[in-house]
Formats: sequence, C-alpha cells, structure tokens
Amino acid sequence: MKFCSVPDCEDEHHAKGYCQKHYNHLRRYGSPYLTKPIPTLSPITDSVTYHPLYETWRGMIRRCHGDHFRYKDYGGRGISVCQEWRDDFWLFVKDVGERPVNHTLDRKDNQGNYEIGNVKWSTVAEQNTNKRPRKKVEVDF
Ligand SMILES: [Zn+2]
Repeated sequence: MKFCSVPDCEDEHHAKGYCQKHYNHLRRYGSPYLTKPIPTLSPITDSVTYHPLYETWRGMIRRCHGDHFRYKDYGGRGISVCQEWRDDFWLFVKDVGERPVNHTLDRKDNQGNYEIGNVKWSTVAEQNTNKRPRKKVEVDF
C-alpha cells in the first residue's frame, strides 16, 4: 500500500503522492501544506499570489517538503522550513523583510533549516562565493 508523502501523515495514497486530504489542499490552495486559502487583500494589486515573496515562500517549502526538482538538495538532505513559516505566509514576510533588488533567500548555515536567524538575503554572486569551499564569506545586512 502506498502512503501520503507528507511527513507525519500516514494516510493512504490518493493522487500525486498525497492522501485525499493533502491532495485537496494541493488542488485548492497550491500546496499540500496549506490548510486554508492564503488571505487575499484585493483582486489584483495586493493579492498574495502577486506578493513579491510569494514564489520565494512557496519555492522554499517545495524544495524542503514538496515536489520541487531540487528537493534532493534540500528536503532530501534533511533541511526543513520551520513550522511557523510553513503555516503562515505573512509571518514569513514579517520575519525575513523585503527582498532587496536582485537578492535571493539564502541560509547562513548551509546545513541549517529555513528558520528565523538562519536566513538572509544574498545576491547570486554572494551565494556562489558561499558555496566555494575554504573561502566562506560572511555578509552582514
Ligand atoms: Zn496526507
């Protein structure tokens, strides 16, 4: 028998790797981890799906807990997103702050989780520097 791929969920597989409940969340809300719709402020301009951090947040969760093609480099290595952020997009926004131009979300400790205190905004160049062994550059914002 196959089971749901959501950690800690032991329900029977229904579709796309998820149980009925989590599959419904995926279809309705775009993520098996969302149990309610992300609040929508106004139809176009302020809607959370247009929020500049929405894809960042969603991608982060998918890399660690979902079906992202780079899952093996994140969730597959035991890296997770803290429960508070997984549950609450707006808390994530509040904790990480606005994204500076041309920056992406980075972790200070590459083995650590996505959680408060271990994330920062880095430029792509800085992230590449961080990945080089023996030449770790700390950047403070
Ligand atoms: Zn499930």
